[in-house]
Parts: sequence; structure tokens; C-alpha cells
Amino acid sequence: MFQVFNYYLIKFQKPCTAKKFEAIRPQLMTENVKDCDLSITTREVVELFKEERLVFSEEREQKLRNVQEGQFDAPFNVYSGSSYLFGRTGGVTESVVRYMCALNKEQFTPSVIQNNLLWESTDKFQSLRVFEFPCGGSNYRAIVCHGGAAVEELMKIHAAGKLKGVDVVEVMVCPQGCVGGGGQPKIGKKSLTAQRPAGLDKHDKESQFADCQSNALMHEMVKKWMPTEHNIHDALHTHYDNRRMK
Ligand code: SF4
Repeated sequence: MFQVFNYYLIKFQKPCTAKKFEAIRPQLMTENVKDCDLSITTREVVELFKEERLVFSEEREQKLRNVQEGQFDAPFNVYSGSSYLFGRTGGVTESVVRYMCALNKEQFTPSVIQNNLLWESTDKFQSLRVFEFPCGGSNYRAIVCHGGAAVEELMKIHAAGKLKGVDVVEVMVCPQGCVGGGGQPKIGKKSLTAQRPAGLDKHDKESQFADCQSNALMHEMVKKWMPTEHNIHDALHTHYDNRRMK
């Protein structure tokens, strides 16, 4: 059983406005206490920094990178390059492939993944792709979609029973993934959204290690706080109820 701590927890999960709803979901409470007290978006963080007259620049970020002041507090200061990829379409799936390769002691290179376009919106901001990759002597398939119109296309494929044989389904509701999330700063939203994946890939490449399997601290934490399969299921899975008005 998980313990309720006397903390006020503020979660800053990128630009996701949906996380505000998640924070109040009863399924994400422990003993009727919210696991996350407050969820704030990128835009709100920017507003807070502006109020405090904090100015960010690449030079400042670079300078802070190697000093204590610029680090996250433990245990959030040790993470894989994969974690950056979650912010863009295809990133969750690539992270799964990296993990599988690491488990099978195979070298991961992006060329391991064959990427085929199934559908794309006219402005090229939303798409549906099939990723195919070999691992441990077997071949796997993933469907990767981003944007509401792409989700609709995915539902058509699902309704036609054509998702059989697919091992991973990655759905990001925002165009391009979280980089295009509703809580991003509004100025230059579309043009900047297209540039953000490159920034995430840069940070990924600069990371100490590429996949979560190589994160010794994470293994230690899982062993300490989620020692059984039941604990893992409890902490990392949720369920949804049908909220449609009858
Ligand atoms: S894709 Fe959009 S809705 Fe989904 S987690 Fe990212 S920001 Fe939130």
C-alpha cells in the first residue's frame, strides 16, 4: 500500500492542459488525497518567470548545466535521453524500441526503425505512421499517430479490425505531440512547434545514457518503492469510466 505524504506537490508536465483534469481524477488519489496537488503548463511557468523577471537564454542554460544550481533535485536529476523524446510524436515508441534493444543487448540505431506514412493532414501537422522494427529475433509493428484528425483515422482502422498484429499503439492528441500542446506559449505557436522536436533530439543526444534500462537509479527506486508486480500495477496503471451522458 502506498503512503500519503505531507507534501504539496506541483507537477509541471510540459504544455499539457489535460494534466489539470488528471490531477483531480479520483483514480489518481491515494486514500482520498490527490497524488498531485497542482498541475501547471509551460505557458503558466513562463508567466511566473516573467513576473519574477527571470530571463532564460541558451548561454545561461549551458552555463548552469554543469553546476549544482542548474540541476534538478534528486531523484529527478538522473534520466535517460529517451525521456526528452516523449515530447514529440514517435518518441514514446522510439523509447520502447531502445528499451527492448537494451534488454536484448542489441545496439540501437534510429535506422533500426522502418517508418511508413499511412495518412497525413494537408498542412502536414498531423499524421499516422507505421513503425516496423526487429528485436531479439522477432519483428514488431507500431502505429504512431498525432493530432485529433489522425486519431479519427486510427479509429477507422481499429473499427475495420486492422489493428491486429500491432504491438504498440502511440496516440498523441496534440499535433506533433506534446510540443504542440494546448498549454504552450501562444506566440508563434505553429512555427515554433515545428522547431521544438529538434531541440528535444539535441538534449537527447547530449544525455548521459539513451535508454531507461541503463538508469541504475530508476531500478533502485522501483525496487525500493514498487517491490512487487502489484505495486507497479497500482502506481503505473489507471482506468477510465465512460463519462458519456446516458
Ligand atoms: S499530446 Fe497533448 S494531450 Fe497528450 S500528453 Fe501531450 S500535451 Fe497532453
